[in-house]
Amino acid sequence: MFQKILIANRGEIALRVLRAAKELGIQTVAVHSTADADAMHVRLADESVCIGPPPSRDSYLNIHQIVAACEITGADAVHPGYGFLSENAKFADILAAHNITFIGPSGDHIRIMGDKIEAKRTAKRLGIPVVPGSEGAVSDEKEAKRVAAEIGYPVIIKASAGGGGRGMKVALTEADLEIALQTARTEAGAAFGDDAVYIEKYLQKPRHIEVQIFGDGAGKGVHLGERDCSLQRRHQKIWEEANSPALNAEERSRIGEICANAVANLGYSGAGTIEFLYENGEFYFIEMNTRLQVEHTITEAITGIDLVHEQIRVASGGGLSVTQNDIRFHGHAIECRINAEDPRTFVPSPGTITHFHTPGGLGIRVDSGVYSGYRIPPYYDSLIGKLIVHGRNRVECMMRLRRALDEFVVDGIKTTLPLFRELVGNPDIANGDYDIHWLEKHLAKGE
Ligand code: ADP
Repeated sequence: MFQKILIANRGEIALRVLRAAKELGIQTVAVHSTADADAMHVRLADESVCIGPPPSRDSYLNIHQIVAACEITGADAVHPGYGFLSENAKFADILAAHNITFIGPSGDHIRIMGDKIEAKRTAKRLGIPVVPGSEGAVSDEKEAKRVAAEIGYPVIIKASAGGGGRGMKVALTEADLEIALQTARTEAGAAFGDDAVYIEKYLQKPRHIEVQIFGDGAGKGVHLGERDCSLQRRHQKIWEEANSPALNAEERSRIGEICANAVANLGYSGAGTIEFLYENGEFYFIEMNTRLQVEHTITEAITGIDLVHEQIRVASGGGLSVTQNDIRFHGHAIECRINAEDPRTFVPSPGTITHFHTPGGLGIRVDSGVYSGYRIPPYYDSLIGKLIVHGRNRVECMMRLRRALDEFVVDGIKTTLPLFRELVGNPDIANGDYDIHWLEKHLAKGE
């Protein structure tokens, strides 16, 4: 087991990882920018190192400084959290070269899944169902037209190096294709320095369903069920559920087994998420995230398994603590992302939190690094906390969520809490009847 873990992140996820390390009796090192000197993860860590000024590129993305912090403190492993360097293959390789363990998969696996064309090709080879589309990048308009005619309109053009929903364009008919292709290419080139694009069938009313997997790096793989993250705004998830209200037990184990077998065959190590669009009973792979996700907490709620403990175990060579047969799903869980944002326009609302009171009681978990008097720096992501609610079934979970939202107080800034209070009373949400466009349509109605 590791002696000392350096946590290369900030905010609630730094605290989340710190808690797991403490429970396992491992020393912790926090790193922070000058803007985060007062942060909770810094206060609670055994040691802390300031790694630079506020902008992420000079601190949380500064590989040089982070490796130096490992050397100074003698950390033998790094947990990257999510975002920042968590899917940076070069970072994983550099740590390996310094004999420091990256708590995550190999640099090569990160690299494959970071390239969308390569990821899709790999998924297909491993028996994962993918969205019909071009085999690899499309070279010109002629080829694009041929592929689109074959799969049928509407189609979506996507950047191979894509991320964060950028570089994607929909063509409803052949008349739109030329412009869509050009715009996607230009956007991709500008955003990622790589203008390779590919074509997929555009699914009209899908749900976003993702499967949590774990590999031991030695040929074993398990799945921990799925999460439904269809409630999104500009491709950002805001409310997640486990299990999905749309799947039955047979579909759950079918897609779960496909994913578990795929990661076993890949020799994948650690936590990962295989993301699908789901429509008319079919799953279509869109991407794989090679890290812990924000919404891992709802999987923890329904399985009782601490995913960060498991990541640390696997990375230290201790293997998985469970086999597929040990994994059982209990009840239903929902996570609401509390962002420091206007609840209608989603414009960030940094500032000082004058009062912060979190709900409690059975089935309630709040993961947050903020407190009364905390000043939210304007430089980073606006997520300030996550409310995770568990119940024996979805109805009980929703009742408890409504009560918990009533108790939650965040004064001094705007947050997304009012939006969740509204959603919890909406009949479509109560029925679990929504797709990936539901939230934007609901917001556009101005209800
Ligand atoms: P990114 O890595 O940029 O987030 P993804 O491939 O994960 O890109 O897609 C992000 C979102 O774009 C999906 O959650 C979905 O809303 C939409 N999307 C992607 N591919 C398709 C498709 N083939 N049909 C319909 N919507 C899609």
